[in-house]
Amino acid sequence: MEETNTPQKSFSEEILRQGMLGGDEHALALAEKFGMTIYPILHDFQLPREYYKKVPYSFAKRHMVLPFKLEENTILVAVADPLNLEPLEELALMLEHQVKAVFSPKETILNAINECYNQELGAASQLIAHMGDRAIEELSDDALEVYDLLDERAGQAPIIKLLNLILTEAIQQRASDIHFEPFEDRMRVRYRIDGVLQNRHAPATEYQTQLITRIKVMSRMDIAEHRLPQDGRIKLKMGRREIDFRVSTVPVAGGERIVMRILDKGNVVLGLDKLGMMPATLEEFKRLISQPEGIVLATGPTGSGKTTTLYSAICEICSDETNIMTIEDPVEYNLHGIAQIGVQPKIKLDFASGLRHILRQDPDIIMIGEIRDVETAAIAIQAALTGHLVISTLHTNDAPSAITRLVDMGIEPYLLSSSLVGVFAQRLVRGICPTCKEGYEPLEKELQSIGLIREDLPDGLLYKGKGCAICYESGYKGRKGIYELMPLTNALKKQIVKSPDAVELRRLALEGGMVSLIAHGAELVRQGLTTVSEILRATRGVEEEI
Ligand SMILES: [Zn+2]
Repeated sequence: MEETNTPQKSFSEEILRQGMLGGDEHALALAEKFGMTIYPILHDFQLPREYYKKVPYSFAKRHMVLPFKLEENTILVAVADPLNLEPLEELALMLEHQVKAVFSPKETILNAINECYNQELGAASQLIAHMGDRAIEELSDDALEVYDLLDERAGQAPIIKLLNLILTEAIQQRASDIHFEPFEDRMRVRYRIDGVLQNRHAPATEYQTQLITRIKVMSRMDIAEHRLPQDGRIKLKMGRREIDFRVSTVPVAGGERIVMRILDKGNVVLGLDKLGMMPATLEEFKRLISQPEGIVLATGPTGSGKTTTLYSAICEICSDETNIMTIEDPVEYNLHGIAQIGVQPKIKLDFASGLRHILRQDPDIIMIGEIRDVETAAIAIQAALTGHLVISTLHTNDAPSAITRLVDMGIEPYLLSSSLVGVFAQRLVRGICPTCKEGYEPLEKELQSIGLIREDLPDGLLYKGKGCAICYESGYKGRKGIYELMPLTNALKKQIVKSPDAVELRRLALEGGMVSLIAHGAELVRQGLTTVSEILRATRGVEEEI
């Protein structure tokens, strides 16, 4: 273990001075008075795993104590309250070791506890392996209670434990969705990570019913209903993070299929500068969203990051002088200072009716989660023509197709040419895992497929990840956005009225300097940030002339 941070009083004083301690000043003063050693940070230390197995997470969290370092046969324990050293005796018994209390701020300990107990990677697989033929206990009556995912309680039914482990693991691996699928002999559990499904577990079919029942109980669904699809929601805590799951079941041959979408608020990074747009695109995009009126549309398939981009746009233009209102299905993340309305079909609050109500609330900027029908499109255009900036999304492959789609819906081309200010398309592509990244000499064909030539490459090489433990052997880690932005130029406006043909619009846009999705992708490939196959996968279906 590294001995990098010799605790010094001056350091703790520095932290205190910066006001980072919150309400801990008093505790710190006491600790100093008692002559306790101060550890302002803990993340450089950790005991071997077997020690943490002896101390339950709930104990550490309840008493705000964390054993973190072995020093001359004594285990150092960080405590947040110098006046409460009672848990130390119990800890000494648990650890079968001498312990010594040192002081750390509460926040530091809490973060370190979450870090230490958050590493049960592979724990779900181990549990599945150990479950074997063991009888599953009946679900306990308190199954409805929502509790901390990391909190392992004694006597928990194995199926509850298994589901908790799966959820925890999926969140740790940054999955966006968890799929539970019935098969003849086994279930299949897959996680969608960075946009791609990956096999994770295959519990025996005998657990299928219990697992599905447990998920239904947690998401408040009707557990007796097996023939109709159902929707539900789960709110869970994982340590300090609050995570929402949107749950959907569909009956299929052999049982029910469940998909849990993970809405992890802690995982969203908002901010236009963080989206990865090319500098010129970003500048143009900022110009479009600062228009006083008109429509800006985002296109792309589900999971392409459109909502994050629109939220970032809203954060950019939000001020005390503007009234921004949204109608969404559902409200995914709460934005500070923005009035967000979730559609509720059951009480006839849909996009169109919600939008009408918003217009009576004197808005400046309106975000519509998605334009799905002509009614919503018509109100959006009317709003844009009467002095509002409207931003919304549309399910099309590329920017020019958005116009064709709206005309197909029944919108008059002249209304589009006078209300649209810009359309952009976006995709998320997986980044190469930096840990296992390696260069290779690409084939001519591969370069051609995304419009690169060998002379473009700094050292004649392209890169890929060969797979390692960090990236779960996928070779990829994290995601990057690629964008094509089509501002409505006069040439495009004329063409829309003449003929809203997507191919012709695309040709004109490229002629006017639009950087296409593939061209932006090719630039990322050239910089060694992603792969050719990833760009081709993400842009499948986009008409492209290279
Ligand atoms: Zn890797």
